[in-house]
Amino acid sequence: MLDYIVVGLGLSGLAVSEELEKRNRSFVVFDDHSQNSSYVAGGIFNPVVLKRFTLAWKADEQLKISIPFYKNLEDKLQQKFINNWNIYRRFHSVEEQNEWFVAADKPGLSRFLDPGLKKNTNPNLDVPYSFGMVQQTGNIETEDLLNNYITYLQKNDSFINERFDYSKLVSRDGFVEYKDLKARNIIFCEGFGIRNNPYFSYLPLRGNKGEYITIYSEDLDLDFAIKSSVFIMPLGNHLYKVGATYDHQDKTPGVTGQAREKLVKQLGSIIKCDFEVVDQVAGIRPAVADRRPLVGAHPEIKNMFCCNGFGSRGVLIAPSMAPKLLDLMEKDVPLDSEIDLQRFTKKHYKPS
Ligand SMILES: Cc1cc2nc3c(=O)[nH]c(=O)nc-3n(C[C@H](O)[C@H](O)[C@H](O)COP(=O)(O)OP(=O)(O)OC[C@H]3O[C@@H](n4cnc5c(N)ncnc54)[C@H](O)[C@@H]3O)c2cc1C
Repeated sequence: MLDYIVVGLGLSGLAVSEELEKRNRSFVVFDDHSQNSSYVAGGIFNPVVLKRFTLAWKADEQLKISIPFYKNLEDKLQQKFINNWNIYRRFHSVEEQNEWFVAADKPGLSRFLDPGLKKNTNPNLDVPYSFGMVQQTGNIETEDLLNNYITYLQKNDSFINERFDYSKLVSRDGFVEYKDLKARNIIFCEGFGIRNNPYFSYLPLRGNKGEYITIYSEDLDLDFAIKSSVFIMPLGNHLYKVGATYDHQDKTPGVTGQAREKLVKQLGSIIKCDFEVVDQVAGIRPAVADRRPLVGAHPEIKNMFCCNGFGSRGVLIAPSMAPKLLDLMEKDVPLDSEIDLQRFTKKHYKPS
């Protein structure tokens, strides 16, 4: 008898697995690579909403948990996954510059927003006003991290590289059975794949497709990220990730010419030098209408749980949700109502 079965190894399944290991629980993780939001993500950690200059939901608290979480994974897997660089917000008007000054003075934000304006010195950038600099930001190399983590799980015989077939799951009194496995609990972390899960597909998780292009430009020469109509992130070796798009309609997994054209056009209005598009990726963000995670227990089946709904901020959110879910499961610590999936039970769940 295992303690846990985990379905899905994106950022959610990774955080859940780490929490299980910390608690010395036995578990296996299933993944079939059917979703790739966590793989294609820019991996950016940034506590500030750069449209409005406000603090993102609980970002301060999440930053304190997530950076040590990824540092610990660097030590454990003996590889570097964290890159630190500042984000330069390109202003579009004098009014925006003034709003920046006001925001930078606010107690929660002053740690992150540099109050001075940054003049552009790069001849290959079109910057009509100044930049505002956000600190304590950077990115996690999520694809590398997840690939390394799979190898780590494989060494411990804890990874099963196959599709989890929901029709083979049987719920018994106090445990679940799946093929030849038995486990006390099961946690679903399938991202947008939850739509195929008959136990949790009632939840209002609507996908939001995102696409990035990678460009090569010898002349751009940036060692910070730029946020304007589009995000430009330095990858090293003259490569930059540019994006991402947001599309509520298209739920297909592949890249599109439309997104590529849009990103190239947006980029062309910010940089003045030549560039070549060398790659393009797409994924579906597990977004929820009220922009809060979907964490908690199935309304009827008591040993069945879900950890999902991280939208466009999985890097910061995932490491703080897994301990909350495990505290609920093992110590009966109630979840905050704003993350508890029970907030949707009355309206959306039809009892069996
Ligand atoms: C283009 C793009 C850019 C992004 N940029 C950022 C960013 O810069 N910073 C940030 O914080 N967030 C970013 N995000 C959002 C972030 O990627 C998500 O919040 C996060 O990846 C969600 O993780 P998850 O584990 O819940 O879901 P997923 O990453 O979708 O993982 C779910 C996993 O479950 C597996 N699975 C599903 N069903 C089954 C099944 N039946 N059997 C076996 N396995 C199954 C899938 O294969 C997948 O590996 C971005 C997303 C996109 C698409």
